Amino acid sequence: MKFYSCDYVQKFYLKFMDHISNARIQFCCIGVKGKTLPYVPLHDSPIQTLDELTELRRNIVNENKISPKDRQYTDTCASCRFYRLDEWNESDKITDIGLGMYPAPCQSKCCYCSSAHGEQRKKFFHFSKAEHGEYYEKIFETLDYAKKSGWMSTNVFWKVASGEISIHPYKDRITKIINMDAAMWHTNCFIYDDNIAANLIANPKSIVYPSIDCGTPETWQKIRGFDNFAEVKANLVRYSATALHHNQIYLKYIILPGLNDNERDFIGFIELVKSLQATKIEISPDDNKVHSDKNYREKSVKAAAQLFFMLSINSVSSYIGRFHPDTQSKIVSSVRSIVSSLSQTQ
Ligand code: SF4
Ligand code: SF4
Repeated sequence: MKFYSCDYVQKFYLKFMDHISNARIQFCCIGVKGKTLPYVPLHDSPIQTLDELTELRRNIVNENKISPKDRQYTDTCASCRFYRLDEWNESDKITDIGLGMYPAPCQSKCCYCSSAHGEQRKKFFHFSKAEHGEYYEKIFETLDYAKKSGWMSTNVFWKVASGEISIHPYKDRITKIINMDAAMWHTNCFIYDDNIAANLIANPKSIVYPSIDCGTPETWQKIRGFDNFAEVKANLVRYSATALHHNQIYLKYIILPGLNDNERDFIGFIELVKSLQATKIEISPDDNKVHSDKNYREKSVKAAAQLFFMLSINSVSSYIGRFHPDTQSKIVSSVRSIVSSLSQTQ
């Protein structure tokens, strides 16, 4: 039977993506303006939390099947871009876990990070065990219980994006729970971390996933607020040497018009990609602007197309990720124009 739903619900994703003040679990981290995602609160008892989550999921799927006029569970989903009509299979085990809970510290001051500046930095990066430890304990107890009691798929995939993992106060606890499972490590690579390296060796599906966004130390400093591009590149070389294969280094380039959309940065980035023999490259938008700022979308088309083209002539395939659908098709047209104007001049 075909019905409306999304991968997040059907494949049983678990997302801890919020500030302690909203201690809860949801199936996705997709923002729909002015609407609350379906969620359950984190209870003291892991069984209660997981039972409620299962019930919420059942209610979502049942409501999706009839698509009533007045929606109790799927009001947000109905206006979500990931909600689609399909012939769905339903996983009875958790297959994907997002650890994006805050407060969690990060040293970087990325210019596009909404949590890295001013009052938000205090709210999201200042961790205190006395104040926030209890919330983390509930998460770990829930995850431990889910893992030991067979709630998780043996192929579960973890996405670790709770501040900067290499300085996280619960780094050892988090890496112990993940153990040899496949994980995507959203690290800024300021520090080389032995726990991440051990996981890369333990599981060929594990990935280090930093956002590099430039190819020169000057631009790196402007974006991050730190003059440590050389150390970051050296740490990436170490991860690459440790990993089982080159696909385990996945680099992102967020397009920031006026800052990193120039040839020098593109060339420096491509040199880095080639030195790491990285084969997974994502060209991404600035999430804060991608949907709200038309001017940003217009300006990012040419840069994304040029970077995509330059990577491809260097035999590196890349992926155009998470841009607004209109922008995505404009980027594709722009790449075609570059190719056709070049073939006319030859
Ligand atoms: S808001 Fe979108 S992604 Fe999230 S559960 Fe609903 S349909 Fe899925
Ligand atoms: S590394 Fe990540 S968490 Fe840290 S400031 Fe940059 S975007 Fe924010």
